[in-house]
Formats: sequence, structure tokens, C-alpha cells
Amino acid sequence: MHHGLCEVQYIVIFGGVMSGLGKGIITSSLSHLLANSGKKVSVVKIDPYLNYDAGTMNPYQHGEVFVLEDGNESDLDLGNYERFLDQSLTGDNNITTGKVYKEVIEKERRGDYLGSTVQIIPHVTNEIKRRIRKAGLDSTEITIIEVGGTVGDIESMPFLEAIRQMRHEEGDGKVLFGLVTLVPEIGGNLEQKTKPTQHSVSTLRSLGIIPDMIFARSNNPLSPDTRKKISLFTDVQEKGIISVTNAKSIYSVPEMIYRQGILDYVAGKLQFQNLVFNDKWSMFRKNVANPAESVKIAVVGKYTELEDAYMSHSEAFSHVTGNTGIAVKTKWVHSDTLKENTDTLKDVDGILVPGGFGYRGVEGKVIAAKYARENRVPYLGICLGFQTAVIEFARNVLALHSANSSEFDRKTPDPVIDLLPEQEGVVSKGGTMRLGEKNVIVKENTLAYRIYGSKVIQERHRHRFEVNPRYIKRFEENGVVFSGCDEEGVRMEILELTDRDNFIASQYHSEFKSRPLAPSRLHKHLVESSLAFKKEQEVKVSRNL
Ligand code: GLN
Repeated sequence: MHHGLCEVQYIVIFGGVMSGLGKGIITSSLSHLLANSGKKVSVVKIDPYLNYDAGTMNPYQHGEVFVLEDGNESDLDLGNYERFLDQSLTGDNNITTGKVYKEVIEKERRGDYLGSTVQIIPHVTNEIKRRIRKAGLDSTEITIIEVGGTVGDIESMPFLEAIRQMRHEEGDGKVLFGLVTLVPEIGGNLEQKTKPTQHSVSTLRSLGIIPDMIFARSNNPLSPDTRKKISLFTDVQEKGIISVTNAKSIYSVPEMIYRQGILDYVAGKLQFQNLVFNDKWSMFRKNVANPAESVKIAVVGKYTELEDAYMSHSEAFSHVTGNTGIAVKTKWVHSDTLKENTDTLKDVDGILVPGGFGYRGVEGKVIAAKYARENRVPYLGICLGFQTAVIEFARNVLALHSANSSEFDRKTPDPVIDLLPEQEGVVSKGGTMRLGEKNVIVKENTLAYRIYGSKVIQERHRHRFEVNPRYIKRFEENGVVFSGCDEEGVRMEILELTDRDNFIASQYHSEFKSRPLAPSRLHKHLVESSLAFKKEQEVKVSRNL
């Protein structure tokens, strides 16, 4: 079937046994290998939940909400795809049950189905296939699709059926299926058990989908015997059975599966000629494996029980490590625990305060900003972490003791963070946010300008509140520079302190655009400032001895 200019081929990755096996990283790794072998790759995540998108979801349940260039709020796996592909994706790359049903019901209401009974097959499945085929650009040669959840889930049934139909419609050699499974190791001799894999394969087969590849997750590499056994029971050739063990860094997974011949196997099945993998990450991996230096950075947030809630920050730090050889040890500090006792911050070399919504945990974030400012500890604030730095400065330097954001205190006498006038009266939760990539104008002769080396940068946003323009002059007369703003000059985007170069905060989320070979400049600056701070402290200690 033709789509755009060239024929698209598809690889679909399913999950068996249970979630949390790293299906997203395996999908990303395969995409990385193909994209770095000259193929034009697009990746699609299917999320079988009923939510339209991840925008309204609590980070506690699914981890961070990842913001795309076009402002779509998506599953965090899209972040991994972007990082592994080094390519920006759009909302079309995340298909949810909510999006599919909304479209089908809207069509039904318009009368587009001409009186027929609207059913899961064919109406819903057709809409799913339409979305899979339209994801990607005209130049896309291969679309890789990750199906969320595990095979056999009720919610994913229409998607599996649509995908089964696609293999039939596209014809031989156009669609490949991969299954991620678990091979547990049991008993004193850690025998590798293949039964869960066998069961997942038979569930998939009962739905008419026969896998071509199996990615088997286990603690130790698959033994030749295990591989043979899986091959025998599942009909997948041994070359198509890939052993995926726990990796120290997710960025070493592409190489791990490459070494087992996955690229040749896929190329053979899809009849690709001359795939030569250009490995751009070897230096990066070396730095991650053998860092020359290390720093400890506190991440002060309210979702710290679930590290996935801050995934893009952790990844941004590992990008910095891969490029500088400075390892980052993260100390997760729950903002509620800070109150007046800041002892947990005593042993850190730097502080990151990430974004968030709602009042809980905000006072702890204000305390973290105060601690950093008073002790000259390197500070990076992102979004809410930018706003709490503004609130802290207002309260403790400008002596506006009750200053706050109107998000947290509607009656504050000093709403230093507020809705801009045209936004007043906005109460609904979806669709009112300032979302996606926007130009940020950077002021010359500032720390921000030194960090970016550019007068205009593009960064991603997800917020409703802004620095209140009425207070800007007072801040700037007392040691703050707003070194970045939006194109209209109305919204403040970057804050820094004039008396140092290790305190910076941004209204935008620089973590979302961080890529392995192009780390977020703000995270890199924080890590480098933290190393300088650590060395200064060491000098002080040795002088006192
Ligand atoms: N809650 C703040 C706002 O809406 C900050 C949002 C964020 O940190 N992503 O402006």
C-alpha cells in the first residue's frame, strides 16, 4: 500500500508477561539503530487508556508528562524516542483509545457513516490503522510502533486486531512483529525459565499475530540452551531471539542488541539493502561508564517517590555525563520534608527544583531556593522551580513577606506570580496552558547569553502562571536580572542573580529538549557549577585542617 512518496514498512513491538520490562527502551533502541543506518524512521506509541492524552494525568501513575514541540502532552516514552532518534515528534506519534474513540464518535455525529451501525470492527480498527499510517512524514521509510500494556489486556484488543489486519493488507515482508518477554531465573543454579515466554507467544498467536522477534529480558544473558528452547517453542529463528539484560545506562542498549545481529535480522526480513550502522555514541558511553568526576545534586520535588516523574531531568543529567565525564548522583529530596530543617541539603553540590502543580510542597521549594541563595550553592529552577525562586526573592530580599503565586494564595497582597490579565477567569483544567515550543529572547551580557551563545532560543513550555509585570522593576533594582523573555517582552523566561553565575532558573522546560549529544545547556551549567562548588568546598576543608 502506498503512503506519500515511498512505501512505508512497519515494526510493531508488543509486551508479554508484565509491564515494566523496558519495552520503551527496546523500541527506542531499534529506532536508533535503523535511524543511524540511514533509514528515515518514525515511532508511534499506542496507549490503550481512555484518556485523550497524558495532559491531565497524575505523574504518580504514569510518570512525567512529556511535552512535544507542537505542545502535545504525551507519554514519557515519546521522550525516549526523541532522545534515541535525535528527532522531534508530534502528537500524531501518540495514539490513545481516547483519540480514536473521539474521532469515531465525532464522525458518527456528523453522519459520516451514512446510517450504518458503528462498530469496533471495522470503524474503530479503521481509525486506528489510519492513525498509524499517517504518523510520520512523507519521507518516512519505516514506522516503529510500540503497543502499551501487555498482550491479552482487554483495552488493547482493538489495537491488536487493527495491527493484525495491517499485516494482511500491507502484504508479505512489510510488517514485522516483536515481543518483549521476561525470562526469570529460578533456584540455586539460576535456571532460565521459558514458560512465561511460551505463554505470551501463544496468547499473541491466538489473536492472529505471530512474532518474528523476541526480546527476552533476564538478569544474565540467555544461555544457548534457553535460546534454542525459546526458538523451538515459538517458531522464531534463533537469530531473532535477542537477549536484553539490565544495562547500567539505557544508552548502551542499542549496542547490546546490535551485537546480537538484530539489524541484519531485521534487514533480512524487510529486505533492506546496505544497512551500515554509524555508532555516534561510543564516546558518550565511555564517559558514562568511566566518569572522571562526580557531583551530588539534590532534586527537590513532590513526586520523588516515583523517579519516572522526573525522567527527562535524569536523562538530561546523563546527557551531561556522556558529554563531560562528570557523573551526577541524584539525591531525591521530598519538598515537604524541607520545612525549616535544611540538613538534607548540606551534603549536596547543587540543587535542582523542577516543575509542578498545586500548593503541596511549594514551601519546601521556596526553602530550597533560599538555602541556595544564602549559601551560594548552585541552583537551577525549572518552571515551578523558577516561580518559587521569584517568590523566595520577593519574600526575603524585597521584604514582601506574604508574596506568593496566585495559584497558591488567591488573596496574597503581593501576587509576584500571577495570571496575565487576558488569562483571568480561566478555570478549566485542560487546554488553557501555554504549551510547546516558543522563541525565548536572550539578553546580551548575561549569564544566560554566555550559556546559550545566542539571542534567540527555542524551548518547550507547560505553564499557566507568569511573573507579574508590576514587580519586575523592583526585582531588577535589587539583584535579579530577567535575562530571557518571550517575543512580546511580556513574559519573563529566565532569571539570574547579578552577584554570581551559579543561580539560574527558567520558566521553560529545558529538560525536554536535552539530547544525548546536545545536553540541556542549563543542566550542563548546573553540573559544571556544582563541580566548581564542590572543589571550592574541598579547598576550604583542607585549609581548615
Ligand atoms: N504550576 C505552575 C504554572 O502553572 C508551574 C507549572 C510547571 O511547573 N510545569 O504556571
